[in-house]
Amino acid sequence: MYEKEKQAVIDTALTIKEYGLVALAGGNVSMRLPNGDILVTPSGMYYETMKPEDILLMDIDGNIKEGVLKPSVDTVALLYIYKHMPHVNAIIHTHQVYATAVGLIEDKLPAVTTTLSNVTLGEVNVAPYSSPASLNMGIETVKHIGNRRAVILKHHGVVTVGANLKEAMYAAIYMEETAKAYLAAKAAGVPACLTQEQSDHAAEIFKDVGQGR
Ligand SMILES: [Zn+2]
Repeated sequence: MYEKEKQAVIDTALTIKEYGLVALAGGNVSMRLPNGDILVTPSGMYYETMKPEDILLMDIDGNIKEGVLKPSVDTVALLYIYKHMPHVNAIIHTHQVYATAVGLIEDKLPAVTTTLSNVTLGEVNVAPYSSPASLNMGIETVKHIGNRRAVILKHHGVVTVGANLKEAMYAAIYMEETAKAYLAAKAAGVPACLTQEQSDHAAEIFKDVGQGR
């Protein structure tokens, strides 16, 4: 069942890999179905070789309904996020280099580009260290993401969320672009930030950017 949705999960994973946000079998992509069940990519498998039947179907408590592979090791954290953020229907976890680097030197990625505000709805917080594959990874994400669509996990990577896969994917890809610009600016001087009003306006203009999937 859900062949089309499972393929959409794979397509999203291939896109984030194409943009260099994950290496080898790193990260994961998941989505919530209208009936509340969750689709999750399997653990340790290259996205290029993934087929729809490799995607795990489970209920919100992690009971597997379809699929024989082991789900992503971060599943316990993902289920916690889905449980505590009812408006979230898609989660992407990456190890994207530039956003992760910002998390090593800052408490947040400031709203320095309109693109960032468009996709994450403003500045992105850095959550304190939590072990990969732990419940704590989910707890820290929910605690620090606020009303944004992204959070940086210190020493680890990034979690983005959305009402659908496209919203979460846009947040991850454009956030990386902004993180590059931010670090380049910071290497040369003091980066200027958007005002709160400018950032909110940018988010408002493009609020439908991720719709339609
Ligand atoms: Zn990870």
